[in-house]
Amino acid sequence: MPSRLNQQMVTLGTQRSVIRELFEFGKLKAAEIGAENVFDFSIGNPSVPAPASINETAIRFLQEMNPVILHGYTSAQGDASVRDLLAASVNRRFHTAYTADHFYLTLGAAAALCCCFHGLCNAGDEVIIFAPYFPEYTVFVKGAGARPVIIPADTEAFQIDFEALEKALTPSVKAVIVNSPNNPSGVVYAEATIKKLSEMLRAASKKYGHPIYLISDEPYREIVFSSTAVPFLPDFYENTLICYSWSKSLSLPGERMGYVLIPPAVEDSALVYAAVAGAGRSLGYVNAPSLFQRVCAACADETSDVAIYEANKNLLCNALRTMGYHVVEPDGTFYMFPRSLEPDDTAFAERAKAHSLLIVPGTGFGCPGHVRISYCVPTETVRRSLAAFEALSKEYL
Ligand code: PLP
Repeated sequence: MPSRLNQQMVTLGTQRSVIRELFEFGKLKAAEIGAENVFDFSIGNPSVPAPASINETAIRFLQEMNPVILHGYTSAQGDASVRDLLAASVNRRFHTAYTADHFYLTLGAAAALCCCFHGLCNAGDEVIIFAPYFPEYTVFVKGAGARPVIIPADTEAFQIDFEALEKALTPSVKAVIVNSPNNPSGVVYAEATIKKLSEMLRAASKKYGHPIYLISDEPYREIVFSSTAVPFLPDFYENTLICYSWSKSLSLPGERMGYVLIPPAVEDSALVYAAVAGAGRSLGYVNAPSLFQRVCAACADETSDVAIYEANKNLLCNALRTMGYHVVEPDGTFYMFPRSLEPDDTAFAERAKAHSLLIVPGTGFGCPGHVRISYCVPTETVRRSLAAFEALSKEYL
C-alpha cells in the first residue's frame, strides 16, 4: 500500500547526509585502526570548549534565580530583559540604536532562518542562494513553500558572481541569503561586494515595486582571522534581517540559541517582526530555552578561544599549498574549501577515505570540484594528517 505520509518528509527523515555517512564511517574506522589514526574533518562541531563564564553563569542562575521563573515559559519572542541585554550588546559593538523589540529569540540560526523564510515568503516566491552554501538552506526554503535559486560560485575568490545575480533578479525574488564568514569557503565578503550587492538589490526592489530582503546568516561572525573586518550589513542595505547563533562563537551548538534581528530601518519593520513571530508560532519555535536565553545574553560580549582555528588554518593552508592543492585562503570560520585533485569531488573524497581522511565533497554545497575540510579539531590532528594529505596528492602526480 502506498504510504499516506508526506513523502517529502519521509525522504528528508531517512536520507543520510554525506556528512553523517562520513561520520559513521569514521567511527567504524576508529574501532579498526584507533581514533588517533582517523582524520575526521567532516563535521562543524566546535572543538574548543565554551568559555568558563558560560558554566559559571548557568550555575549562578540555577542557584540564585527563582526556579519557577527560570524554568517557566518566557515571552514567545524571548524574555524582555534578555532582549534588552542583547540590544545593548549589539548597540555597543555596531553603534546602532536597537531595542528589545527588534529581537526575536529562537533555536539557533536554523530556526531563525526558517522563521524568516516562512515569515517573508508566499508559495512560489524565490530565494536567491550563493554557492557554495550551507546545504540546509535549500531544505529550509522549500519547507517554506518558496523556490531556491542557486547562483553558481565565483570559484576564484568565493565572492559573488554579479552577472549571474543580475540574471536571477526576477520579480519573484523575495529574499537573498548571504553567509559571511562562509561555510564552506571560510571567506568573508569584502565591503566592495556588499556595496555592489546592496546597490543591485535596491535597484531591483525599486524596479519591481517591492522590497527584496537580505537575510544575513551570521553564526561565524566572531570567528575571523588577523582581525578581518566583517561588514555589518544593515549599514549597507536597509532591508537586512540578521540571523545569529551562539552555536559556533560560544561553542554551544547543543543549546540551540540564536535570534532574528529585524532593524527598524526595514520597510514595515513592525509587520516583518510580526511575520517572523507568526512563523515562529506556526512552526512551534516559540520561547527559546529559558536558562540559555539568560546565559547567552549575560555572555553576549564573549567568545570561545577561537585562536586555535586560526593556528589550524595557517598550518593546513600552507601545507596544502606546498603539496600542490589550490586553496582560497579562509578569512574566518573553521572551514576551508580546496579544489579536489580530480573534477569528481565525490570520487576524490572517496579516495581520501583510503588515507583515513574524512573530507566532504563540494557537490552538496552547490560547488562541485571542491571539498570541505572542517578543521575544528586539535592542532595535533591537523599536524598528523599532513602526511595523509601528501600521500593523497601523490596519487595524482
Ligand atoms: N548557517 C550556517 C552557515 C551553518 O554553518 C550552520 C551550522 O553549521 C547553521 C546555519 C545552523 O546553525 P545553528 O546550530 O545555530 O542552528
